[in-house]
Amino acid sequence: RQPAAAPYLAKLNEAQREAVEALDGPVLVLAGAGTGKTRVLTTRLAHLLATGRCQPWQVLAVTFTNKASREMQDRLAALVGPIAGDVRLGTFHAIGVWLLRRHAELVGLKSNFTILDTDDQLRLLKQVLEAHEVDVKRWPARALAAVIDRWKDKGLTPDKVGGGDGNGFADGKALELYRAYQARLLTLNACDFGDLLVHTLTLFSSNPDILARYQEQFRYILVDEYQDTNVAQYLWLRLLAQSHHNICCVGDDDQSIYGWRGAEVDNILRFESDFPGAKVVRLERNYRSTGHILATASALIAHNEARLGKTLWTDDDPGRMVGLRGVWDGIEEARIIGEDIEALQRDGARLDDIAILVRAGFQTRDFEERFLTLGLPYRVIGGPRFYERAEIRDAMAYLRMVAQPDDDLALERIINVPKRALGAATVKKLHETARAAGTTLLGAGTAIVETDELRPQARTALARLLDDFRRWRALIDVMPHHELAETVLDESGYTAMWQHDRSPDAPGRLENLKELIRAMEEFPTLAAFLEHVALVMENAEQRDEDMVSLMTLHSAKGLEFEHVFLPGWEEGLFPHQRALGESGQKGLEEERRLAYVGITRARRQCTISFAANRRVHGQWQSSIPSRFVEELPADHVEKLSDPGIYGSGGAGWGRVGGAGGAGGAYEAPWEKSDWRGRQKGYGARYERRGGLIEGEATVVETSGPEGGYALGQRIFHQKFGYGRIRAMDGNKLEIEFEKAGRKKVMDAFVDPA
Ligand code: ATP
Ligand code: MG
Repeated sequence: RQPAAAPYLAKLNEAQREAVEALDGPVLVLAGAGTGKTRVLTTRLAHLLATGRCQPWQVLAVTFTNKASREMQDRLAALVGPIAGDVRLGTFHAIGVWLLRRHAELVGLKSNFTILDTDDQLRLLKQVLEAHEVDVKRWPARALAAVIDRWKDKGLTPDKVGGGDGNGFADGKALELYRAYQARLLTLNACDFGDLLVHTLTLFSSNPDILARYQEQFRYILVDEYQDTNVAQYLWLRLLAQSHHNICCVGDDDQSIYGWRGAEVDNILRFESDFPGAKVVRLERNYRSTGHILATASALIAHNEARLGKTLWTDDDPGRMVGLRGVWDGIEEARIIGEDIEALQRDGARLDDIAILVRAGFQTRDFEERFLTLGLPYRVIGGPRFYERAEIRDAMAYLRMVAQPDDDLALERIINVPKRALGAATVKKLHETARAAGTTLLGAGTAIVETDELRPQARTALARLLDDFRRWRALIDVMPHHELAETVLDESGYTAMWQHDRSPDAPGRLENLKELIRAMEEFPTLAAFLEHVALVMENAEQRDEDMVSLMTLHSAKGLEFEHVFLPGWEEGLFPHQRALGESGQKGLEEERRLAYVGITRARRQCTISFAANRRVHGQWQSSIPSRFVEELPADHVEKLSDPGIYGSGGAGWGRVGGAGGAGGAYEAPWEKSDWRGRQKGYGARYERRGGLIEGEATVVETSGPEGGYALGQRIFHQKFGYGRIRAMDGNKLEIEFEKAGRKKVMDAFVDPA
């Protein structure tokens, strides 16, 4: 055994050390944010290796994201050196791929199977729906994907799906469609993300010898972010740990934020019954955040009822209070946060230490635009991703066809891109032939060019394309793969297509294609590159350089930053309407956990904001502060904007009495008027006109309804109901509402009653 004075052990507190040193048997570390769970896991791994308890390849470590895997790998390498590279460390998906590549034939695949991304999955589901004559307008592929994904989250293959769930879809056809979809996937030698786990479960349960082999190999199992495992993942872990029970899971029930994707907090409760005698360790000291930040997060999460409950404390300074700010709209929010960041930068802060965490992906756009104007470098993590751009997907489809000729979806994507006389009619004929002969599209093509079924022009074009693919495939072993990629894109005419394209975005697309080729050089083979892309599609991110990070709260899990901005705390956006509507209290509590995750990402400073107006899916809406704003503890929070903005109800923060929940308003800073009020049917919408020049609002036009309003006139407002106009100032009206009291509103939100 290693002497107790091993330097890495000295960096732990007593409870952490206990969790690290209990190497044998099941261990569950259940603790709040920032208490060092991930540090415990990494140190435990180091300890296993340093004490010679096992060899690196005998450890299996699971993290929630690729980024987290990389971080753990780096930290481990710092502790134990290069042997860290031999540990099987990755996400459930990555480990699933690794296992399936080795045993593909046992689940009906070939080892070079393709991993479909969401887009391919939807296209394939649509084909399945059409083949079963289901009305795709009424029963869209996306909805079927959700049903099937939930089944897969639970580890249910078609033969295991019982009654109940999902059966409402397409008049009870969901299961039949699921079966057909799985059959199609096998024919295509492909699987979707859910399959990466479900197939390995099948592999283990129908091949006890193989399961035994991996149980033997992985003598120690470690799992981070355990609260967000789904049932399939849980079953998978249980199978692997069954013989030795050397499994250590760390998690926090208050950070369970993937319930909507099938995660089950109950897995925490099950742990103790499935692994009797499990050692449960609780960590209570938070090492990440200041006193005010921790107190704010703790007070907020205390509003949840469904929680195990825990104590958290810190030795750190109280630090600065959590900032709270009301703004006019998303543009102003982005402008002010941009100013804050520049101020931080002047005080010596690094951009890498700053993050903006949003509830919904669309919120990043206002920030991106603002940061581009300011020249402030930023990265969007998990956002609109490089590999999702059309030209990249096209190029990838070519490469997939070269590596995996039976990839029908890839062929279909590029068969007529660039245009080469192989239109919809040809594709239809290929599909028919493929179905009749039970082959792939490529197989059908090879057969059909020998006949006179196609028009001569199409036949020549198809024969040529097939020849091209044959030639490129022969080059795989001869040419460096990035050069091959360049050759493929040139010879297929794909690059030329964009070179001749006159649209303004064509140069950018050509640059992206160059970037793609450059990216390929970092991988040893074409297959390795394709696999990498399939995996990062879930979790893309840029590296290097000092940049502000923009991401959703969901992707911020496990991370920490000195300064965190949390914009968009408005009802409907956060908590999100969808979460509230679908699952009531349960949904609301998951949203509150998300808020808790957000606040606890901050080390030194956390700033929350909400806007009076928000553009959601292109529509302007007036909004009221999130109920979470009201739940913040006043002793730890400092208002950063004019108090008037928080409303006049006097009841705590933000939201004002109003009538029956419909109310809630705050005075807005009226001087911003780059908006054009526009009457449109029922209710009014705002439409943004013009842009921001040098950071100043450009006044484009303001207009009320025809003829304007008169003092004393009775009106109807979307949120506050009926009222009478008491004062007018341009497009601002002061109205005495019948239920909500006196308020200032913009005329565009008002209709004559
Ligand atoms: P989360 O729930 O957000 O995933 P966590 O419990 O995994 O948090 P870590 O990320 O492991 O927490 O640790 C939070 C911070 O506290 C890190 O910066 C870590 O280095 C630091 N830390 C953890 N334990 C100690 C310790 N004993 N002494 C000093 N710093 C520590
Ligand atoms: Mg962690």
